[in-house]
Amino acid sequence: MGDGRRKHRDMEATPGVAAAPRVRVLLPLPLEPGTYDYRIPRGMSLAPGTFVVVPLNRREMIGVVWDGPPDPDLPAARLKDVIEALEVPPMTASLRRFVEWVAGYTLSPPGAVLRMAMSVPAALDPPARQVGWTLAPRPPAEGAVRLTAERRRVLALLAPGEVRAGAALAEAAAVSPGVVRGLADAGFLVPALLPEAASPFARPDPEHPGQPLAEGGQAEAARALREAVARRRFGVTLLTGVTGSGKTEVYLDAVAECLRQGRQALVLLPEIALSAQWLERFRRRFGVAPALWHSELTAKTRRETWRAVAEGKAPVLVGARSALFLPFPDLGLIVVDEEHETAFKQEEGVVYHARDMAVVRARLAEAACVLVSATPSLETLTNAEQGRYARLHLDHRHGGASMPAVEAVDLRKHPPERGRFLSPPLIAAVTETLARGEQAMLFLNRRGYAPLTLCRTCGHRLRCPNCSAWLVEHRAQRRLQCHHCGHAEPPPLACPECGTAGSLVPIGPGVERVLEEASALWPEARRLVMASDTLPGPAAAAAAAQAIRDREVDLIIGTQIVAKGWHFPHLTLVGVVDADLGLAGGDLRAAERTVQLLHQVAGRAGREERPGRVLLQTFSPEHPVMRALVSGDLDAFMRAEAAARRPGGWPPFGRLAALIVSAEDEREADRAARDLGLAAPRGEGVQVLGPAPAPLALLRGRHRRRLLLRTRRDVAVQPILREWLSRVDVPGGVRVQVDVDPVGFL
Ligand code: ADP
Ligand code: ZN
Repeated sequence: MGDGRRKHRDMEATPGVAAAPRVRVLLPLPLEPGTYDYRIPRGMSLAPGTFVVVPLNRREMIGVVWDGPPDPDLPAARLKDVIEALEVPPMTASLRRFVEWVAGYTLSPPGAVLRMAMSVPAALDPPARQVGWTLAPRPPAEGAVRLTAERRRVLALLAPGEVRAGAALAEAAAVSPGVVRGLADAGFLVPALLPEAASPFARPDPEHPGQPLAEGGQAEAARALREAVARRRFGVTLLTGVTGSGKTEVYLDAVAECLRQGRQALVLLPEIALSAQWLERFRRRFGVAPALWHSELTAKTRRETWRAVAEGKAPVLVGARSALFLPFPDLGLIVVDEEHETAFKQEEGVVYHARDMAVVRARLAEAACVLVSATPSLETLTNAEQGRYARLHLDHRHGGASMPAVEAVDLRKHPPERGRFLSPPLIAAVTETLARGEQAMLFLNRRGYAPLTLCRTCGHRLRCPNCSAWLVEHRAQRRLQCHHCGHAEPPPLACPECGTAGSLVPIGPGVERVLEEASALWPEARRLVMASDTLPGPAAAAAAAQAIRDREVDLIIGTQIVAKGWHFPHLTLVGVVDADLGLAGGDLRAAERTVQLLHQVAGRAGREERPGRVLLQTFSPEHPVMRALVSGDLDAFMRAEAAARRPGGWPPFGRLAALIVSAEDEREADRAARDLGLAAPRGEGVQVLGPAPAPLALLRGRHRRRLLLRTRRDVAVQPILREWLSRVDVPGGVRVQVDVDPVGFL
């Protein structure tokens, strides 16, 4: 007798149980497939998307009722009951499809993605409603109980049906809380739920008067975006324009249209903690602040925000990449500002690119998507050129401000003094700028004092014990620090290798060292260092930006955080201390990224009446990156980039996926990497590079090897990866991280 029939008989034998309806529930666990079947208790109705509490291994867990039929062959006796359905709006079908899509694309278990979509489990509990007092519908008969003057005062405060908190009543009537309790004991008051507190998320007013948009460019681009939102259909628009052309002002108009449509808008910013000025502009445009989502929110705010989004009470949310997974019931617009930024790539856990996933989320929600950048990525440009994205361009700065003049300073011709990093032309330019009472900025994308410490006697270099990386000296904190794992140690007095005392010397500059040099050159100038370790948190960054606007600072020395969208009206000179820095390393996108970053830094200069000037210190002024920055012809640069990548089939003209194999035991890492290499997929348009030690061959104590799958654009990498991984058995101590469309190659 076949198995299936026997099961059928079992079911017949216990009709009551077997007939109980079942559901599939996806649990937020990083396991495949992640769905589990449960029985629906009598009287409970569970539509897909409902948040439910279910038992799992003697624990209780919250999951989501998922689509698709439960497995009819599971014996009923093995199934447990759903414990409870939660009082939260169900997860929309569009978000459920998004969870599945991201899981499939990134090769992650759906439960791992679901976990990101329910990152605040506490938000799923209904907020505790406060209990207060109301007049009893049937109070004791008059005269039955003595009513003191105090008691009368309390009763007089309450209109029929009104509910007030005990403490508030006592205070208003100027009596002790005991009087209120006494009234309740005597039957004059009964407990009742207080009305819900008003949402802390104010509704931005789309008709709040904004800045009039400049006729021509701005107004026309805004009209096109408003139309895209009003269509209530999926579509992607790339909004480009030089720094300071008013792209933000234009896309805020699209947000206004989304509000008029009664749908929700999501704005993704690469570094929300540094976005004080952006928030200020939003407030000016709409009269209120938007809801925020980033890693530094308190637990309470996270809970309230998640719930407000789910209930449709947060009409506009601005956030970091994880905001994509919030439960918007009716998303009408997603804006990705600075779409080229690598900060949108999440490198840990579920490895995904928020810009790319924003497009998917918008498609599934029938929403408009707007990608914004002065220096769009080649991926996005190519999509626009091939007609998949619409394109809008603003071609000059707002208010007649001109673009800064960019010059290369050839360090071979104008070397800095020995042991110094600022060349004579740059020093002269800063001196002139300060003399005119304007602000100057020195940019160096390196934290700390010196990136390397070397023994003059034996040549030994101080390195991290856990990573293949040099230790960076942070002189102000008297520490050597690893920027990869956080390892820190006091600077040794003698070389740990040869024992020579006083022989360790710093090599190369970080911002602290540039500050030291600047202090000697311009002792009178008021200086400010802007780096992630000197400005911890949003409040410090906002205060620094304000001080710059208020002209309390003359000279700003900063890492890439100074590049981020700031508008400093009095800043007219930007000096790039080491323009070649990002070009080393041979990363596929090194040149593109350097142009993007330096163009953005340069864009801080001369944003109002006074013209800006930018000096790039470089050893290779003839490099295409420097030429593009000096000429300002970024389009030509990107065309050359495209031409360079196309023949080899590098992204975006082909696809890449990386496997990063890591283990504490080096031989284990090597063995697993070799096994993966031997099992590498072959075929038309498919190629595997590696295994090879990763540039960061040791990271946090784990040995790392990389393999890179490269395919033609028309080949889907996921099935290939899945098949490949299924053919290799990796031991427990080895991790294989899959990175589809890798951005970093360390
Ligand atoms: P982008 O995002 O393209 O770098 P912004 O939107 O930040 O440019 O605009 C640059 C500056 O010009 C900002 O200070 C902004 O407030 C101002 N600005 C832009 N458009 C207008 C406008 N229509 N009216 C008044 N000010 C504007
Ligand atoms: Zn380290």
